[in-house]
Amino acid sequence: MKNIRNFCIIAHIDHGKSTLADRLLAATQTVTAREEKAQLLDNMDLERERGITIKSHAIQMEYEYKGEKYILNLIDTPGHVDFSYEVSRSIAACEGALLIVDAAQSIQAQTISNLYLALENDLEIIPVLNKVDLPSANPEEVSDDIIDLLGCDLEDIIHASGKTGFGVDKILEAIVEKVPAPKGDPNEPLQALIFDSHYNPFRGIEVIFRVINGEITKGQRIKFMATGKEYFADEVGTLKLNQVPKNKISSGDVGYLVSGIKEAKEVKVGDTITDAKNPTTNMITGFENVKPMVFAGIYPVDTEDFEDLRTSMEKLQLNDASLVFAAESSAALGFGFRCGFLGMLHLEIIQERLEREFDMTVITTVPNVSYLAYTKKEPETAFIVNNPSDLPEPSKLDRVEEPYIKATIITKADFVGQVMSLCIEKRGQITNQTYLTPERVELNFDMPLAEIVFDFYDRLKTVSKGYASFDYHPIGMRTSKLVRLDVLLNGQSVDALSALIHEDNAYTIGKKMCEKLKELIPRQQFDIPIQAAVGAKIISRETIKALRKDVTAKCYGGDISRKRKLLEKQKQGKKRMRQVGNVEIPQSAFMAVLKLN
Ligand code: GDP
Ligand code: MG
Repeated sequence: MKNIRNFCIIAHIDHGKSTLADRLLAATQTVTAREEKAQLLDNMDLERERGITIKSHAIQMEYEYKGEKYILNLIDTPGHVDFSYEVSRSIAACEGALLIVDAAQSIQAQTISNLYLALENDLEIIPVLNKVDLPSANPEEVSDDIIDLLGCDLEDIIHASGKTGFGVDKILEAIVEKVPAPKGDPNEPLQALIFDSHYNPFRGIEVIFRVINGEITKGQRIKFMATGKEYFADEVGTLKLNQVPKNKISSGDVGYLVSGIKEAKEVKVGDTITDAKNPTTNMITGFENVKPMVFAGIYPVDTEDFEDLRTSMEKLQLNDASLVFAAESSAALGFGFRCGFLGMLHLEIIQERLEREFDMTVITTVPNVSYLAYTKKEPETAFIVNNPSDLPEPSKLDRVEEPYIKATIITKADFVGQVMSLCIEKRGQITNQTYLTPERVELNFDMPLAEIVFDFYDRLKTVSKGYASFDYHPIGMRTSKLVRLDVLLNGQSVDALSALIHEDNAYTIGKKMCEKLKELIPRQQFDIPIQAAVGAKIISRETIKALRKDVTAKCYGGDISRKRKLLEKQKQGKKRMRQVGNVEIPQSAFMAVLKLN
């Protein structure tokens, strides 16, 4: 155990985390040149394309230093706030962290928020000044910034380049020298932290864990404490580039476990694995059941595909337990599902996976949070509203509560004004303002979660020029003056376009919504009036003018095959369009309310 080091890499996006990780794997011969493929750790297609790590991963390296062999477990963490719970559990599995800072960009938003997470977990921080090969690198100034942030010495900062490989040896040495060896007792009852899981269609769920105390042996009867379920550890091993089966994984080490678990929802990140016969009395602290934060309807473009869509969602749920769904029907869209997601990125991922892996073409409706509606009837009844169209009529409604969060934003002093106006526009109430240094300010707000769903990140990024770290946690439900904004197309209300918004914003949002829909809905053979309404009151109106020319008119009625081709082409263009009444609505229009600025 004294020769094990568990560490993660934390960095702002694009500061070179993946590139450097690949360098470490190459330098320790964990991968041979033949196996080397850019960004080995990001192995889901979507991750490679977007350049982000969605799921966390772990990989074990062997390294010899001063004649002794060491085991280095690199625990990779997802880089998006939707998955912040997974990040926190991965960090909890480590004793140290490489803090990577781009020598041209200096400290950025995620550098700070991830650093705080690491410090909360008492990790040893090794600062790395990366990309020193860049002509625009500014090592002196950026080093000063790092010293300000960490209170470390200039000599502690390792200069490196993931591009050239410069400094990689120094980093490996520092991991051995500075990251503490794991503490823990192999003779205690088993206590292992689950920080990740993967779905393998052939082997079932693979659980990735860090043993704190005791050991997991092949064939052992184990118990997951949060779910109370018991399994046999059919296979345990370590994670190299491939899985390497072992007889046991001991205290301090990281490994995987296969035990015929078929569904992702049986394995909860943050749960404690213990021995079924000799269980520990202490669950590892910090376990939480992750709850969906954002809901949206997912509907098949072709109504006949509803059952196929159900099958696809069920399969997706097997490997992504954070996806929840229930069948619902919409007057406009027919049968579909109301789905719960961890956040907006998670929603996009699910939509893309449905299309790529299951060949489904779907329409996603405006995302919303989960509300609590109280009716006027005595005794008072409250019910959960996950779909705006389920909100009772205003006459029957007493009040509506919505989820609130406490937001922490760290930004540069120069941007405080803009960040504050944005938060106030988003119905935030400032609760605290602290200058961390003369240049860096921490702001705290209480804010409705719904406002974060509605384009908050993009706006924050813009007003702060990318220099704002943002984090939040729920603080419960609060009463708000919410109304349902309905949209009528051609005089017909389209339930899938309804959204709950604050009363004071109804007029502005209604107006913008009509303008946006006019832009997004293609012209058709007839005029289409667009109206926004609250209750029976129309608050705004626009008209999409009819299209004059009939495209098939070009064919002079003669050439049937050409005409058919043209119609076929039009049909292709209809992908991701839904016919509602006699109006064709493109996917983008269902998201219009998110893109009003
Ligand atoms: P991540 O988002 O932190 O994982 O960053 P990546 O490893 O994906 O790197 C982001 C970009 O920076 C890529 O285009 C890399 O090729 C580039 N990059 C990474 N490390 C270096 C470096 O040391 N020097 C230079 N010049 N570019 C680098
Ligand atoms: Mg990366």
